[in-house]
Amino acid sequence: MDAVELLQGLVRIPSPNPPGDTIAVADFVAEQMRAIGCEVRQPAPPQKSKARNTIATLGMGEPRVMLHAHIDTVPIGATEAQKWSVDPYAGEVRDGALYGKGSIDDKAVLASMMQVMQDAARQEEQKGLNGTLILVAAAEEEVGGQLGTKWLADDGHLPVCDFIVVGEQTGNKVATAHKGVLRATVRTTGKSVHATNPDRGVNAIVAMSKIIAALERYHHDLSRLIHPVVGVPTCNIGLIAGGSTANAVPDACAIQLDRRMIPGEKPEEVVGELRAVVESLHLEPATASIGDFVYSRWFDSPLNTDHARCFMDCVRRRLDDDPGPVGYLPGSDAKHLMDLARGDMIIFGPGSYEVAHAADEHVRLEDYAQTTDILRDFVRRTLYAN
Ligand SMILES: [Zn+2]
Repeated sequence: MDAVELLQGLVRIPSPNPPGDTIAVADFVAEQMRAIGCEVRQPAPPQKSKARNTIATLGMGEPRVMLHAHIDTVPIGATEAQKWSVDPYAGEVRDGALYGKGSIDDKAVLASMMQVMQDAARQEEQKGLNGTLILVAAAEEEVGGQLGTKWLADDGHLPVCDFIVVGEQTGNKVATAHKGVLRATVRTTGKSVHATNPDRGVNAIVAMSKIIAALERYHHDLSRLIHPVVGVPTCNIGLIAGGSTANAVPDACAIQLDRRMIPGEKPEEVVGELRAVVESLHLEPATASIGDFVYSRWFDSPLNTDHARCFMDCVRRRLDDDPGPVGYLPGSDAKHLMDLARGDMIIFGPGSYEVAHAADEHVRLEDYAQTTDILRDFVRRTLYAN
């Protein structure tokens, strides 16, 4: 299979999540990797057996290099479906680009990694590899990775590695950090009365407006913290619900907020900051509470190992642009691999995440070939015997 046929093969196997059935696409990867002589395992979490992963290994010993990409895609929504100008699962090539759901996110970089495995398999057969190369084709990324990469890591299916490449859309630049997210719900409670005499009631929406103003000040204060690659932490109020009719004083109001954490921020301390904002206000006789905290980790890599320097050099030689390091704005499975990264971990792949999750998702074939070249060069310089 040539590079285009391989990517078409992946795109033509739908793997939308939800529902997150990755059996067929994981099997496709497994079959290709077995054919070239990899040792292949296909673990799946007992809670969701259709979330099948594929792990292919070549060589043995150290250093260990992991190439990781996810095999699930976002589903195609009804409005999005009308905007596609091609069949999203045909893998059509037009004007130097390959179109399809999952083409850029995340099947192009996966196909690049599979080609690098093919190259490494030939080397392994002829001269042996100076270490271990592992391909991880992971399920469940699009829904947070709890039953995908996090489960693989926690359940002991992945080894500690000296260098990890997490494939996502960075325009073939080297990304070394992304933010974490903490979500919370704030609720205010008042007393409902008829609107003819509102002063006899306690207005939960008015109380919430004071909290909103305080959170906005908090958001602006956060800009004094800055990370060199991902920028500043933020706090956004994304949803509000309260009241039922204009002629009654509302007795309940709730907001949901999204607090982006920069590398180094601890979730428990951020929870403390948010509590302090809410509790510092004088809202009596209304009451307020904050809870329903859910968070996902940030990721950060110092890029100070020999492997990282080598990878940067491989990018610099081919990319006609600043190689980075840059930040990666959406989250990724990198956050679940931090405990397994003995050396550096980077996010790397063709295209932009702005093209992902949208109609007419595509990858430029030139970018895809460049991704393969860079990864292959790095693996050759790191794991091939002279
Ligand atoms: Zn992705």
